[in-house]
Amino acid sequence: MDSRRISQQPVVSWLTDAQGRPIIYISDMGLADRETAIKTIFHEIYHQESRRVWGHGGTEAQAEEYGERMLAEYQRRTGRGS
Ligand SMILES: [Zn+2]
Repeated sequence: MDSRRISQQPVVSWLTDAQGRPIIYISDMGLADRETAIKTIFHEIYHQESRRVWGHGGTEAQAEEYGERMLAEYQRRTGRGS
C-alpha cells in the first residue's frame, strides 16, 4: 500500500486530542507481549512522525522496519530478548 493511499484512508490513528496531540489506539493483539507491544507502538509512532514531518504516514514497510529497529534497540539497551 503506497503512502498516498494510507494518507487518504480514514485512519483511526490520525485522531488528535484537544491540544492537537495524536491519539493512537492499539488493539489487544498489538499488545500481546512485550516485543509485540514495542514493535506496534513504534510502528504507529513512525506513521505519526512521518505525517508530522512529511504530511503523509509513510509506507507499512517503513513503519514495520522502524518498529523492528526500535525493538532491536530496546533489546540492545536492556539485554532483554535475543
Ligand atoms: Zn501501519
